[in-house]
Amino acid sequence: MTARILDGKATALAVREDVAARVAFLKQAGVEPGLTVVLVGEDEASQVYVRNKDRAATKAGFKVETVRLPADTSQADLLAHVRRLNADDTVHGILVQLPLPKGLDSAEVVRALDPHKDVDGLHPDNVAALVMGEEGLVPCTPAGCIEILDRYDIELEGAHFVIVGRSMLVGKPLAQLALSRNATVTVCHSRTKDLAGICRQADVLVAAVGRAELVRGDWVREGAAVLDVGINRGDDGKLIGDVEFEAASARAAAITPVPGGIGPMTIAMLLSNTATAAARQCGVIEPAGEAAARR
Ligand code: NAP
Repeated sequence: MTARILDGKATALAVREDVAARVAFLKQAGVEPGLTVVLVGEDEASQVYVRNKDRAATKAGFKVETVRLPADTSQADLLAHVRRLNADDTVHGILVQLPLPKGLDSAEVVRALDPHKDVDGLHPDNVAALVMGEEGLVPCTPAGCIEILDRYDIELEGAHFVIVGRSMLVGKPLAQLALSRNATVTVCHSRTKDLAGICRQADVLVAAVGRAELVRGDWVREGAAVLDVGINRGDDGKLIGDVEFEAASARAAAITPVPGGIGPMTIAMLLSNTATAAARQCGVIEPAGEAAARR
């Protein structure tokens, strides 16, 4: 079997087109949806991520502002910026780019966000909403994983959904999302026994570890769908996923590449969350078709 490539770039583009239509609708309703990204320090990867988010959000029609703060910003100053943005009615989504420089307490910063503007879905109220099946904002990377599976009609109901990685950013929220779609979920981590054996049972296998090619090709069950969330840099500077791509592709029915898989989906879902946040804050009821595009 040679796997079908789940094209994150093309799928993200389709999501972004849906979001642009939602932004146009919001503007007709008198709302100019605004996203503010807060970037503290000079971390190179974070600068690139923020630039990409800014570009994509601007293209979709959002009013975008990036607040750049020096690496030696104090916790009190950062919290003051968050509170100012919470109180600003023209800002509907706030994203504090993580990780923060050493010495800053990211958990406290996330807790300080207005949960309705927390478009990264990391505030405890949004975590609770996800677990309880209530309305909230869902973290972008896991939301992107489910979105790409849906757009390629990959069945989740009853599927054995195996996630390698249990972070608050990816593994844990993805487990909740897959559960809410009636998958049977197994979450693996660094202490899991017989990781290979568990991965071989997966109908849908997601790798979110941060170790290049940890998931070997022969850990993939024939016909499985494989999502590779990992972003690692090889010695040659090239990006490598957490899955041994060529060997896995020979067994899987479908697989996301790195780059061009889950990365672009993450940005697209950030835009979708921001449109959702703006509509809710301003009491705009979106048309059914567009609301359906928003999960
Ligand atoms: P993280 O917080 O470091 O979590 C990594 C997880 O992998 C932990 O749960 C850890 O287990 C587990 N793990 C580590 N070594 C393992 C091993 N040998 N066997 C099994 N499990 C192991 O990472 P993260 O933030 O979730 O990110 C994971 C990867 O996704 C990174 O490469 C990151 O760059 C990438 N990422 C990509 C996107 C995107 O947009 N594509 C977004 C976010 C993250 P323990 O809990 O036991 O330590």
